[in-house]
Amino acid sequence: MADTIIEVKNLKKAFGTHEVLTDINFDVHKGEVVSIIGRSGSGKSTLLRNINLLEEPTGGDILFHGKSVLSGDFDLPHYRAAVGMVFQQFNLFNNLTVLQNVVTPQTTVLKRDAASAKTHALELLKQVGMDPFINAKPDQLSGGQKQRVAIARAVAMDPEVLLFDEPTSALDPEMVDDVLNAMKALADTGLTMIVVTHEMQFAKDVSDRVVFMNEGVIAEAGTPAEIFDHPSEVVTQEFLKRYL
Ligand code: ADP
Ligand code: MG
Repeated sequence: MADTIIEVKNLKKAFGTHEVLTDINFDVHKGEVVSIIGRSGSGKSTLLRNINLLEEPTGGDILFHGKSVLSGDFDLPHYRAAVGMVFQQFNLFNNLTVLQNVVTPQTTVLKRDAASAKTHALELLKQVGMDPFINAKPDQLSGGQKQRVAIARAVAMDPEVLLFDEPTSALDPEMVDDVLNAMKALADTGLTMIVVTHEMQFAKDVSDRVVFMNEGVIAEAGTPAEIFDHPSEVVTQEFLKRYL
């Protein structure tokens, strides 16, 4: 497919003798939202961390626009800038203000001039509803507010793909919707997203495709209707029962 951004091919990851990802295959196309669901320990975070090369695969390959990210001549700095990540624990710089958190990576990593980095930051902070807090420090914010800043910071880098690893799992329940709404708004802009989540309603409403992981393999993948309304595998049915 012409607009394929990432292809994961026969991906394996072992820690010592413990094989955590067994044989993972899936593609991500431009503009798609792919949700990854599955039990704790099934390998979801490890899959994301292999895709963005925080971890090195022990087998198989990952192609970015058709080129192996593991090949010697691959442009890794470009790839790292193109694949953003939003973490469960926000990872904001606590000594910087909200605005500086979103401006600084643009000026240091992308070498953007300060004025355009600031314009871009303000626009994105407004989009996630955090423009009233630009001069606050992270420790003055709630978890949901911090996560919205972290999302603005990731988007400010103009990623081609944005990975989310359980972005709402560390939040108090009343803050979850603000973050999910910010993510939905991003999806509506056409951003390509891979989202590990336990928010089944979000996965159902916002995803183009849903991947169900179980014990290091993709047990089942399909449209939200296929996975949520007519799961074909017993393991998927059993997993989803807990959310109905
Ligand atoms: P999930 O995100 O679905 O909860 P993880 O990818 O975090 O699952 O973990 C999958 C398995 O890999 C677990 O058994 C976990 O203990 C193991 N694992 C993850 N990271 C490491 C690591 N750095 N070293 C050893 N084992 C790990
Ligand atoms: Mg995880």
